[in-house]
Amino acid sequence: MPSITRFFAAIALTLITSVAFPQGFPAQSVRPKPASGSADQSNVPKLEHFDPDVVDKTLDPCDDFYKYSCSKWLSANPIPADQVYWNTGSGLELWNEGVLRDTLEAASKNDPNRSPVQQKIGDYWAACMDESGIESAALKPLQSELGRITALKSKRDIALEIAHLQHGFPGAWEAGDNQSSSPLFGFTGQQDYDDASMVVAQIDQAGLSLPNRDYYLNTDDKSKEILGKYRTHLQKMFVLVGEPQSQAATDAATVVELETALAEAQMDNIKRRDPKNVNNKMTLAQVRALAPSIDWESYLQAVHAPTSDHYIVTSPDFFRAEEKLISSHPLAHWQTYLRWQVIHRAAPYLTKAIVDENFAFFAHTLAGAEQQRPRWRRCVAAADRDLGDALGQAYVDRAFSPESKARTIQMVHSIEAALDSDIQSLSWMSPATKQQAVVKLKGIEDKIGYPSHWRDYSSVKITRDSYLNNVRQASSFEFERWVAKIGKPVDRSEWTMTPATINAYYDPQLNTINFPAGILQPPFFDPGKDDAVNYGAIGMIIGHEIIHGFDDQGRKFDAKGNLRDWWTADDAKNYDERGRCISDEYTQEVPEAGASVKQNGLLTQGEDTADNGGIRLALAALEYSLKQQGKSLDDKGDDGWTYRQRFFLSNAYSWCENVRPQIARLMVTTDPHSLPVFRVDNVISNMQEFGQAFNCKPGQKMIRANACRVW
Ligand SMILES: [Zn+2]
Repeated sequence: MPSITRFFAAIALTLITSVAFPQGFPAQSVRPKPASGSADQSNVPKLEHFDPDVVDKTLDPCDDFYKYSCSKWLSANPIPADQVYWNTGSGLELWNEGVLRDTLEAASKNDPNRSPVQQKIGDYWAACMDESGIESAALKPLQSELGRITALKSKRDIALEIAHLQHGFPGAWEAGDNQSSSPLFGFTGQQDYDDASMVVAQIDQAGLSLPNRDYYLNTDDKSKEILGKYRTHLQKMFVLVGEPQSQAATDAATVVELETALAEAQMDNIKRRDPKNVNNKMTLAQVRALAPSIDWESYLQAVHAPTSDHYIVTSPDFFRAEEKLISSHPLAHWQTYLRWQVIHRAAPYLTKAIVDENFAFFAHTLAGAEQQRPRWRRCVAAADRDLGDALGQAYVDRAFSPESKARTIQMVHSIEAALDSDIQSLSWMSPATKQQAVVKLKGIEDKIGYPSHWRDYSSVKITRDSYLNNVRQASSFEFERWVAKIGKPVDRSEWTMTPATINAYYDPQLNTINFPAGILQPPFFDPGKDDAVNYGAIGMIIGHEIIHGFDDQGRKFDAKGNLRDWWTADDAKNYDERGRCISDEYTQEVPEAGASVKQNGLLTQGEDTADNGGIRLALAALEYSLKQQGKSLDDKGDDGWTYRQRFFLSNAYSWCENVRPQIARLMVTTDPHSLPVFRVDNVISNMQEFGQAFNCKPGQKMIRANACRVW
């Protein structure tokens, strides 16, 4: 799968919550009725619409703009017990899920006249909601899987078992970079870094169950406490599948030992950001020599991998260490590790006792949720993940009008034009590099709303009998779909987010920006609001994605998506100086995440650069749009605020978020995005345009003496 740059964190788990936001409706014409016949009638989704009256006028905007814009909203909107954060987009998330739920419920009636697509999504929903069926099947769906592992004869068989697990199980916990989505190693089709027109095989480090290596290796008290609780969780899970206590305790210790060793071997997430560090081309013979204990031939055959021109091994050091680990531990240890992988991956789809224990550690201890989301929300999220395009068609019909699409495209074009002017005006870039930058900008393909063709799920067998089996069918289909791309020309039409997703991304190897219909809704895109409000919210997001093509890593790819240096040495040096200003600024204490938790600005540099550049592009595009209407940024609208002020207020409003300290801590360690408060205050304090909007004076907190600017 390509490595894309998302707008919001990818901690969109089956366990916790996805990128959430709050309340109203998109255009009146598409107002869906709330999901009916459910126990959650009180939970009628309400979309948020920007309202400048929400600001706290007793505060000084120049002291802390996030607080000024958000504190009233934040105190009126505490985090629900089943959520780990709650923000102005959470209502939209519920609303989107309501639309999907209506579609799923309607399709779930056992009607012989259903279309093949309706049969699949309807039976998927029915099986997921059938809690009593899942209880009475108990551990049955797991038994043959555990039996396979007990039957392994030698360590050579491990590779085949991994192929089997990769086929059938989605990660129970998928960290942002997917490091934990596979046992021992990951395998997929990936665009070649040096020839973006072709897909080659990629072999990646993997093998962890916690969000990243820091959770195993950090030695502060809090980290040690979490690792201790993880060991207890492992033990409880082994007991739940039938092991005696003492055996479960031994097995838990084995898993922690092996995963910790794998964590030590992994390349860290800062080094992984640089594509040069992961672009290691090898022949199959070299891969074999790197880790001879893994039976690569049998593995590649089992996953039906087409011949690859070469293999990209993201981290050769990881495989050197893994080789030693495999040879030094007996088969029995690996059987324990694999048993855990099966239990962990299957957990969300099994009985209540197992689901509850899985929640207790991964969502409560790790992320801070107090109770589970209602079952219907978990089933909607799983259906969207597994059959997203089938659901997406209905979502788009219902919630994304051609008018919304046309207005978004117009905004995208005006923001791209703003970057063109910005590039021309830069004092630190030579004409030669400017010319290349413009070629790259013109090469960006804009994808708005939904894919040009819908995925064909006809080979995915979905029945009403087994939720776990349905998940495995869909997961296997997705795994094979990516592997089958190896050796073939790239399919440029591919999307890696479903239409109902509230997120957006830039793909550096396709040079595309992608905005699912799910985010082109209030409060991000609000058809009923004026340009100042829309450029402040979705405009900044559009600018952010475009700037990703020119952030500290994105700038290393050319217009066609090849990893190719198109910068003069001087210009690259100038860029790095400006980039360092950003990474220094964002290397900061994060009190929201607990005492002495510090953000590493090198991890968030790309996202922070995109936030800072994106908002500038959106403001420039707004200024241009107002000029076309004979207005200026400093004119006042009907509500007494200037357009410039409304732009910044709408931007801050789109970020208002209450967040639990546990998830804040998790995000600071694993997520390349800064927390919302910094995505507002750090950004605007770099902009004299903000000081101008609210008459801030030098020395006030929102005027940074050492302001940073890249784009
Ligand atoms: Zn981003």
